[in-house]
Amino acid sequence: MATETDPAVARSDAVTSVGDRAPSSWGLGDGQAIPWDYAPAPESRDVVRLKERYGLFIGGKDVAASDGQVFTSVNPATEEPLAEVARATAADMDAAVRAARTAFRRRWGGLPGKERAKYLFRIARILQERSREFAVLESMDSGKPIKESRDVDVPLAAAHFWYYAGWADKLEYAFPGRVAKPLGVAGQIIPWNFPLLMLAWKIAPALAAGNTVVLKPASTTPLSALLFADVCRQADLPPGVVNIVPGPGEIGMSLVTHPGVDKVAFTGSTDIGKKIYKGVAGTDKGLTLELGGKAANIVFDDAPLDQAVEGVVNGIYFNQGEVCCAGSRLLAQESIVEPLIEKLKDRLSTIRVGDPLDKNTDVGAINSRAQLEKITELVAAGRAEGAEMYQPACDLPDRGYFFRPTLFTNVAQSSRIAREEIFGPVLSVLTFRTPEEAVEKANNTPYGLSAGVWTDKGSRILHMVKRMKAGVVWANTFNRFDPTSPFGGYKESGFGREGGMHGLHAYVRLEDR
Ligand code: NDP
Repeated sequence: MATETDPAVARSDAVTSVGDRAPSSWGLGDGQAIPWDYAPAPESRDVVRLKERYGLFIGGKDVAASDGQVFTSVNPATEEPLAEVARATAADMDAAVRAARTAFRRRWGGLPGKERAKYLFRIARILQERSREFAVLESMDSGKPIKESRDVDVPLAAAHFWYYAGWADKLEYAFPGRVAKPLGVAGQIIPWNFPLLMLAWKIAPALAAGNTVVLKPASTTPLSALLFADVCRQADLPPGVVNIVPGPGEIGMSLVTHPGVDKVAFTGSTDIGKKIYKGVAGTDKGLTLELGGKAANIVFDDAPLDQAVEGVVNGIYFNQGEVCCAGSRLLAQESIVEPLIEKLKDRLSTIRVGDPLDKNTDVGAINSRAQLEKITELVAAGRAEGAEMYQPACDLPDRGYFFRPTLFTNVAQSSRIAREEIFGPVLSVLTFRTPEEAVEKANNTPYGLSAGVWTDKGSRILHMVKRMKAGVVWANTFNRFDPTSPFGGYKESGFGREGGMHGLHAYVRLEDR
């Protein structure tokens, strides 16, 4: 057991999995609890060389915005400015689309699949080689814990390039009997919750299928996309195949409506998704929308409760709950709700909130002040509507945008915290008696992105999965991602799939032989 007087042991404990941690009240067996804590385990920032100013990446070059404007990217954990970034104008977006069109026509669109594959494999390898640099930068720019950027975001991003590299010269097997042709220029807009991973979800299948790309990262997290521009250079990717154009939301709309764009892919809020849908209406552009969610994580009374608790915690507190498929509604069967809540509260008291660059941190910083305000407002609404709030006692850093892991019980289905996407570390607990009631309540949402089912019975899993109106249903696990597996929603969660062969389909036009 780790004690304050034995920091070496404390450090070694720090690397055990979250589920193995001992409660901090453990004593020596004489009934006396000894207070202890984990020693800090900060990841070094030295591996990242931040530039003072980043340009737009257009036609393989680092260029300033046409009007010279910049914006500042801020570290949400410290509120310190990290770097200035060129703020694109509509003229810059036009230049990027033209560069992508030229690269498509002159080079990439006609390149044999096996040649495209070589570039994708190269990118995957470079991402792996530079994984530490990417992980640290991603945590600094987004606020996510280093153990998540290091173990989830960056490896999965590389895995997407490996996976789609494999398909680039095998499109005839992906779509048997048809000829798969690229669409042309893909305009892609990504959010701030998984900046590099969302980039990989979008760029890898687009390039594998022979398209070129203009990508707009979110304004609060442009830096990993701009580091990716450096990877494109290092991989000798022909100029213009990938263009990275940071700028405000309106610039995203000028990409969506640009006549030189053949396909639009968006991940973000349902509100902006609807505007984008209108923006492409009346054109023949392809469109995929990956929008919000309000997933139900359903725990039946025969589920192994300790495992379910880990799954529920992972489902909602992973990445500060800033996850479109987060299990933000826990549906607990009435007969086990009390022990389940007790175990959850106990588990919440061991969650470490703080410095994203500390390897022990479970919950890092909220991505922006605006997002923190949104979470705070919705939590206040939950209390005002009569739900009971529980937050573990934990010290939050003096600076930065942090929010305590929060659990609400006694939540009505009509409550805002049960209906709206909070996009923060906030769990709403509802109960049910029968499987039918669970289905009814789980589907009682305008969203349809994901769901989770926890039960010992395989037959019950199949029964539930068939009835869930959600694009992805996890059974006895949550938040599992794999490049081979399609992901996406329906209803207000959008349409189209990313990942797997379905993800490739969105970037090709199929013709008869
Ligand atoms: P947005 O949907 O506004 O942002 C996502 C991306 O869209 C960003 O790159 C953003 O650019 C861009 N964008 C903004 N306005 C436009 C526009 N008019 N046309 C084209 N592109 C645009 O999400 P927010 O950052 O405002 O977050 C608000 C809420 O959305 C969150 O609280 C959460 O509930 C939800 N959300 C859901 C996500 C998901 O994965 N499903 C991801 C992010 C947010 P810029 O950053 O420059 O504004």
